[in-house]
Amino acid sequence: MSSGYGNSRLPAAGPAALMAYYRLLRSHGLNDSHSGNASCRDGARVWITPTGCCADTATAEDLVLCDPAERAPPGASLDAGLHLAVYRSSPGTTAVLHSHGPYAVTMSRETDEFRPDDFEGRYYFGRVPIIAVADQDYLNESPERVAAALQDSPVAIIRGHGIYARGETLDEAYKWSCSLESSARLAWMARVANIKPGTHP
Ligand SMILES: [Zn+2]
Repeated sequence: MSSGYGNSRLPAAGPAALMAYYRLLRSHGLNDSHSGNASCRDGARVWITPTGCCADTATAEDLVLCDPAERAPPGASLDAGLHLAVYRSSPGTTAVLHSHGPYAVTMSRETDEFRPDDFEGRYYFGRVPIIAVADQDYLNESPERVAAALQDSPVAIIRGHGIYARGETLDEAYKWSCSLESSARLAWMARVANIKPGTHP
């Protein structure tokens, strides 16, 4: 299987694919240089981006290998505990992507859930949970709360922060991330144009 942009072809799984998808989130505006993080299963273990990872300069050699049954090792992303909680609670998951899509983050600031009104968003998501976590409680609360939300939905948003997406493949987690940001952008455009939700031709 391949995926990519332009003429590029990406491997479907493994460390090189993980870094490639993490870079795609950055190159398409869903992350800035150092935001977000990404992980994928490799057998019984999980590769994850390192803390402070820069999508523009990091390589697959920088990834950190984790065991979902143990605490994440030093050097792993600050969100590693959250990623590992998702793998434990949603066993079919092989990839988790975290991104800061600006429209999704903006939409999340004033509501407890996001119900996309465009065709694709309705079809894929229906309802997207939005989780409010105080900054000081982030590391303690976000792993279990996001993992619980992702048991019922392929995507969840932490209010004012970003999107977490799980997939059976890296490509699927990337698709959910991009599609949710697209739905949020369309919802924002409809709002700016003063088009009421549910107004269909
Ligand atoms: Zn983040």
